[in-house]
Amino acid sequence: MIDRDGVINEDSDDFIKSVAEWHPIPGSLEAIAALHRAGWRVAVVTNQSGIGRGLYDEATLGAIHDHMSARVRAAGGELAGVYYCPHLPDAGCECRKPKPGMFRALERELGLSVVGAPYIGDRLSDVEAAEAVGARPMLVRTGTGAATEGLLGERRVPVFDDLAAAADSLLAETR
Ligand SMILES: [Mg+2]
Ligand SMILES: [Zn+2]
Repeated sequence: MIDRDGVINEDSDDFIKSVAEWHPIPGSLEAIAALHRAGWRVAVVTNQSGIGRGLYDEATLGAIHDHMSARVRAAGGELAGVYYCPHLPDAGCECRKPKPGMFRALERELGLSVVGAPYIGDRLSDVEAAEAVGARPMLVRTGTGAATEGLLGERRVPVFDDLAAAADSLLAETR
């Protein structure tokens, strides 16, 4: 499982509001493809409060995710699912990370357990979300990850330069 903004694509303080603003981080699409070829089911789990803020609508987010999925396929990969929370941070929903709702939906829909499954993100909320569901957090330094690295405290979370490096590490485990 992979976070989206700052991990697969470049993040923006102004949110990613259109397909034109979605720019993959170099190597990220190829990394997803490599995981797919090695037998991993790769799903995206992403907070998208820009919807709750009225910055873009669900149709636009759908178009962005169709574009992302097509770019992944063009690189030889496949996304098993894309899960997003559209709510504002203070909405009190059960899906916004670090809450577990999206991971529970993924488990239901894909028929698998996320316990022990890697979750690659760039924010502390990604690490916390993974911990909350018994998944295995991995941090990348892209996006806000370099700053997040200093917030890990006593946590023993592996840190990688980018998604490509994190994927290489996972692939090396199973070779
Ligand atoms: Mg992120
Ligand atoms: Zn939500």
